[in-house]
Amino acid sequence: MRLVNRISIFFLAALAICLIGYSATMYVLIRHHLYHEFDDHLRNSLHVLSAAIEVESDAVKWQPSEHTIHLGDDQDEVRWLIVEEPSGVVDASGNLNLQSDADHQLLKIGSRIQSHSGDLSRFGHWRILQSRLVAPAPKPTLELDSDEYPHVIVTVAHDSYRLDADLWRLALLACGLPTILWIFAAVVGRAYCRRALRPVTEMANQTRLITGFQSDARLPVSRPADELASLAAAFNDLLDRLQKSYHQQQRFTSDAAHQLRTPLTVLLGQIDVAMRRPRSEAEYRDLLQTLREQTDELQKMVSSLLFIARAEGDAQLPDRETLVLTTWLQSVRKRWDHHPRSADISFILSHDATLTTSVSLLSQAIDNLLQNAVKYSPPGSPITLSTHAISAQQLEITVSDAGVGISPEELESIFDPFFRSSSARRNGTTGVGLGLTIVSRIAGVLGGNIVCDSQPGNGSRFTLRLPCESTSVNCVAAPS
Ligand code: ADP
Repeated sequence: MRLVNRISIFFLAALAICLIGYSATMYVLIRHHLYHEFDDHLRNSLHVLSAAIEVESDAVKWQPSEHTIHLGDDQDEVRWLIVEEPSGVVDASGNLNLQSDADHQLLKIGSRIQSHSGDLSRFGHWRILQSRLVAPAPKPTLELDSDEYPHVIVTVAHDSYRLDADLWRLALLACGLPTILWIFAAVVGRAYCRRALRPVTEMANQTRLITGFQSDARLPVSRPADELASLAAAFNDLLDRLQKSYHQQQRFTSDAAHQLRTPLTVLLGQIDVAMRRPRSEAEYRDLLQTLREQTDELQKMVSSLLFIARAEGDAQLPDRETLVLTTWLQSVRKRWDHHPRSADISFILSHDATLTTSVSLLSQAIDNLLQNAVKYSPPGSPITLSTHAISAQQLEITVSDAGVGISPEELESIFDPFFRSSSARRNGTTGVGLGLTIVSRIAGVLGGNIVCDSQPGNGSRFTLRLPCESTSVNCVAAPS
């Protein structure tokens, strides 16, 4: 079932329940109140009439000439009767018309008690109250005066025809008005529902047009800005990110293919040249040595590409172990002791830390940063690796040099795969532009990040931030 229909049905069912509940409750309350007032009036009339009859110990006396019976404003509607069994009607209200069938029936009803004295009984539209007045020790019938009786039945009756008609009109109103309201709400509500959900249909149609990440089509963002608009905006953001990542992947694949093709072409060329004529054993050995070195380089590049291409979640943390940073960095320093620029490199280990991490990945990141510092700074200029504790759970390892630096425009791209600065290409510095990408991936995999500050001509500073278990200040912080 369509969403519009489901929402409409729910809304209309809820509205119907509310309207029926409200109308029925109001009708019942009003009806109860009106009948209550009506019967109160009848009870008052019975009291007034009964009070006008003198009940003595030996007889009940009724002297109409001594009494003016006033039964309220509604007198015309109220009929009354005083009957003595078995002799018949003692007196009756002036509005009792014995020619009318209804009044004749009233006369019959009034000649005997219909229900318990004082209880309400009904006859057609008439609501009737009766009371029997009895002398406790009545005189013998022959001794009774003409206005004396042993007992009488007092009957008052009120025609509820007008009240019933009013209540019938009220019932019609209580059914009709909510029905009209419900139909109106159904028409308007459904139209509104359709309009409110139109963006969803448009979004679905537009989504079908987006066939791939090449497409620049986006979902329409509805006005006013509501939940659907924010859903469309969020979906568009997602498409933007996916498209960006798709383009990055595409560029990465074509760059990778290009980078791999160059050394392979060189390898094939060297093999072809070597095969043109027979060579001495020494020449073959030299050639094989060169081929081996180039194949090594190729293998390294393929490993780097694999590491970068793997999704971040898939990147396993090999050889995780807990290490004391200062001790470990001193062993790294030793590896660099035989490097031609060893004298330029100093380690300032002012802070120590304990961290559980992948030693090989961290080692690769530090080596890449130091290799870049060596590559992009002139011999004799200083290269410094230093440690800083940011907090008890975070440390920084900084590698800075006083080399060529990086321009602000290029700074944004240095962590992209295969990016090489224009000066690096111009100067013919060796490299393929994967070193910093790998450092950035390693930083992410180890739960940290890397940032770079640089000024062209003044050198660069790469800061690797990592989480750790604890940090402390080293007492001896002299360069090593
Ligand atoms: P590669 O060094 O192989 O070109 P990297 O990914 O290591 O690749 O570096 C990317 C680019 O960043 C380099 O081409 C270079 O322009 C710039 N770069 C990296 N490190 C430094 C540095 N220490 N000083 C100046 N430029 C640097």
